[in-house]
Amino acid sequence: MYRLMVQSSFAAAHQLKGYEGKCEGLHGHNWRVQVMAKTDVLNPIGLGIDFKVLKGMLQDVISLLDHAFLNDIEPFKTQNPSSENLARHVFEELSKKLEKEPARLEWARVWESESAFAQYSLE
Ligand SMILES: [Zn+2]
Repeated sequence: MYRLMVQSSFAAAHQLKGYEGKCEGLHGHNWRVQVMAKTDVLNPIGLGIDFKVLKGMLQDVISLLDHAFLNDIEPFKTQNPSSENLARHVFEELSKKLEKEPARLEWARVWESESAFAQYSLE
């Protein structure tokens, strides 16, 4: 099995409703996003998926979050834009874009700070 990881980042504001503490107030983060794809198939020139293609797909997903107030956009109007929910959102949206590729997403990580991330995967 081959695994390929790309990362990017976005800046956005959010509010965690129901959280008892500072994170209930409006504040922002510079989130780092990492995604791991896996495949056991290589194309004729030896690539599992072109990094450029994978990065482009990730960029398409997170460009909708960049410089946004996350609570105002779907699906975060009804679910808190926590790092956990952001990781699942990135995982699901990027998985849809990967449907035509042999590679599948293994996990998505969203780093809320230098020392803390949430990860989503199917297992
Ligand atoms: Zn926060």
